[in-house]
Amino acid sequence: AKRLEGKVAIITGGASGIGAATAKVFMEEGAKVIIADVQDELGQCLCKSLGSKIEYVHCDVTMESEVKNAVQVAVSKYGKLDIMFNNAGISGDPSRCIVGSDNESFKKVLEVNVYGAFLGAKHAARFMIPAKRGVILFTSSVASLLGGETTHAYTVSKHAVVGLMRSLCVELGEHGIRVNCVSPGAIPTPMLINALNMNKKDTLEVLCKVGVLKGTLLQVEDIANAALYLCSDHAKFVSGVNFVLDGGYSTT
Ligand code: NAD
Repeated sequence: AKRLEGKVAIITGGASGIGAATAKVFMEEGAKVIIADVQDELGQCLCKSLGSKIEYVHCDVTMESEVKNAVQVAVSKYGKLDIMFNNAGISGDPSRCIVGSDNESFKKVLEVNVYGAFLGAKHAARFMIPAKRGVILFTSSVASLLGGETTHAYTVSKHAVVGLMRSLCVELGEHGIRVNCVSPGAIPTPMLINALNMNKKDTLEVLCKVGVLKGTLLQVEDIANAALYLCSDHAKFVSGVNFVLDGGYSTT
């Protein structure tokens, strides 16, 4: 049996990287998917290539009216929302030195990664609470467990996402809503390649050498499969979990 048969899912940041891979896996497992992103052309092309059970909605996660609209599209079209995957994120200004850091970039990273995730959860919960069911998933990062891996803003934002997840897990549990995070290690998506200021080949070479599982690379499909598990009924008693996929990196 398909693991998300009949479910309706919104994936923010679904036009690229982890979100796009998750959209494909969710669809293959029977879900109807709405991709909410700001890369309209990329998102529309992806939907065209994937078929009729997927649709693209323009949605800047920092704009409440646009988040509200994305949720409304799901509810008007399918009558419900089962899964809200708050995955959109940015890495921001690559400078890691606090002195000389760009203030606007710090605020922007928090706005997209934290406030955007908050808005997604808020508008999903408006429908999930009366329905007495639902799953909210966030993409945090291995940077939710470590300092020094990335910029201050990004580390702060991903710690905050885990805090939001835990806070919502407690509030929404009584309504039958599960709330979790996936926390990937490094994957060569456009976001990471830009942040490292390298090409894809060099990025892959660097990533192959770090961590515990030498020679194995984390791929977007690995995160998609973790998201599939966490959003499926196989995980019906899993809530409040920061599910780390880093090949043991954060253990060292
Ligand atoms: P990506 O660049 O391939 O995808 C991110 C998507 O988010 C893009 O399509 C982008 O247009 C969208 N987005 C950015 N700002 C947005 C906004 N304001 N509103 C709506 N959409 C917006 O990168 P990715 O690696 O797939 O990133 C997905 C998530 O994974 C992010 O939250 C990122 O922080 C997290 N993450 C990535 C890595 C990694 O190494 N790639 C590791 C850990 C966590």
